[in-house]
Amino acid sequence: MEYVMSKLLWEAREGKYAVPAICVSNMESVLACFIAADRTRSPIIIQSAYSEMEPQMIGYRDLAGIIRTFGDRYTDVPYAIHLDHGMSEKECMDALEGSFPSVMFDGSSLSFEENMEVTARIKKAAGQERTVEAEVGKVGGEEGGSSDGSYHIIKSDPDQLREFVLKTGVDAIAVSIGNIHGCHGIEKQIPELDFRLLERLKDACEIPLVLHGASGIPDEDIHTAVSLGICKINYYTQLYNVYMDCVKQYSDCTMEECMGNATRVLAGEIEKLIKVCGSAGKA
Ligand SMILES: [Zn+2]
Repeated sequence: MEYVMSKLLWEAREGKYAVPAICVSNMESVLACFIAADRTRSPIIIQSAYSEMEPQMIGYRDLAGIIRTFGDRYTDVPYAIHLDHGMSEKECMDALEGSFPSVMFDGSSLSFEENMEVTARIKKAAGQERTVEAEVGKVGGEEGGSSDGSYHIIKSDPDQLREFVLKTGVDAIAVSIGNIHGCHGIEKQIPELDFRLLERLKDACEIPLVLHGASGIPDEDIHTAVSLGICKINYYTQLYNVYMDCVKQYSDCTMEECMGNATRVLAGEIEKLIKVCGSAGKA
């Protein structure tokens, strides 16, 4: 059953677990989310960014339609559809018009004031029935990994966070506490999360907090982050490294066997993340 994302996040906040937010951009990745959530009786956030859809020639309505089609098959799975990293006001508005009931505006490259202004406008357009996530500070790195070795992190500031939430009315906030986008955590260094800062950020606002760039963060650090108020955890790199390894491994098979195997392997990886987030059995 489909829910607006904020409902899943508030239940997670009260239940002291996080909902995994899985990046998808095609039928196979959507199906893998539902298989994993169904097997583990978990809620799940199914999200995509324009930069992931565009290379596959998939539009907002197309992807939302694919998600809802599988949602009709897996009626016991509570799920939410969400735009990950809307890089402009237009991308967020297009997604809202394209039947995405939840969007993230990534204003981390703007000034604090500009980020606040644009986020407030998007929240006004979304209204109370739809969810808006924003980012205070800058998580840094790039989805898919960057090679220049500099991650451009700006840690979230508790005072800015408090002001941002009050002035924008936003529903969820992505925090920067040492987490990094991309595969650095797996292949280079393990990101060191600043848990003291996370506690202060949690105390600075009353809304669910989001952790981006979770691939490669050790399970026990994820558990600690969840215990300190993280309600949504974004996963991309870890999953698609495994997925692409599988596609390469089965490249001599038929397309159907190759894609079917990759979907099964991806579902297995998502199941592991659901267990780490503590959302198994919470559906
Ligand atoms: Zn992110």
